[in-house]
Amino acid sequence: MSAIPRFDRAPRRIYWEVTRACDLACRHCRAEAAPERDPAELDAPEGLRLIAELAGFGSPLPHLILTGGDPLKRKDLFALIASARGRGFGVSVAPSATPLLTAEVIARLKAVGVEAVSLSLDGSDAVRHDALRRIDGCFYRTLVAARACTAVGLPFQVNTLASEETLDDLPQIYRLATDLGSARWSLFFLVAVGRGSVLKPITAEACERLFERLLDLGTDDGPIITTTEAPHFRRVVLERARRAGRGLASPAQGSMGHGAGIRDGSGIMFISHTGEVHPSGFLPLSAGDVRTADPVVLYRDSELFRTLRRSELLTGRCGGCEYAGPCGGSRARAFTATGDPMAEDPLCLYKSAPNAA
Ligand code: SF4
Repeated sequence: MSAIPRFDRAPRRIYWEVTRACDLACRHCRAEAAPERDPAELDAPEGLRLIAELAGFGSPLPHLILTGGDPLKRKDLFALIASARGRGFGVSVAPSATPLLTAEVIARLKAVGVEAVSLSLDGSDAVRHDALRRIDGCFYRTLVAARACTAVGLPFQVNTLASEETLDDLPQIYRLATDLGSARWSLFFLVAVGRGSVLKPITAEACERLFERLLDLGTDDGPIITTTEAPHFRRVVLERARRAGRGLASPAQGSMGHGAGIRDGSGIMFISHTGEVHPSGFLPLSAGDVRTADPVVLYRDSELFRTLRRSELLTGRCGGCEYAGPCGGSRARAFTATGDPMAEDPLCLYKSAPNAA
């Protein structure tokens, strides 16, 4: 296995929750979004200052993902994007499929240099998707937005929840993402935070079977398949590649090339709407606040982030696992299950052979 990046100096991706305001009311919303903006969220001058401070990571700059809530609920969204682009950041946006996401807005996102958007599809038809999103018409609007992205040449990623409620529909959603021309299909493995606690996570056994199916699903024509809060997909990818005696070539195996070593706090940094710096959007421990501290220093030097990046401090089955470098388990799920962010990830059943690490 080639050397695993340690991400000590800078994250690969910064997620900034620019607002918690959103006109949807999704059953599994991490942010517990509400229709109105929180008066305590970072305002326009604070947002511009944050972008300037994040540029202190230096070259190569992390990729900046503006998420929410719905970023389109911020009137200064395009000013923030322009500032970030002007400082050299690659920028993606994660809008909600509401009437705010028009073809004109998508064309404008492309025109200001946004590299990609993400669109959520949690069902392969309107009945299944809209039941989770709790707004009629959301499925249809997502398809329209995907086609508008294609029309202007703006790459898009489809995000899909992996939970008991969606498990049997995932192959159909993959086919739909492929037909729409999605560049990437990102499966989010439910961590019970925010409103996500009302849904049911899949079991570790079902997760293992799903990973094998994902590798079978991947085709040269389909989107790259990646996972969020399930880094042990990389272990399954590596195991299969080794069994086959070959390298990592297919699109389904792309998560290895893009994600090795990335997990909560290692390669990922999340900034909340009020400026709290977390290791991810699903791990509610805070390293500090960008209103009172430099976010670069918080990422590089806070005890929380430094600890999370040290695979050798992992415990349980993740401790001593030979895949701790490329994988390391979901620190958010470990924390939710045990209160200890360095504990084993209960969604993974893998047990290393003695002395395998
Ligand atoms: S035991 Fe932990 S580190 Fe090893 S593959 Fe599973 S989640 Fe990853």
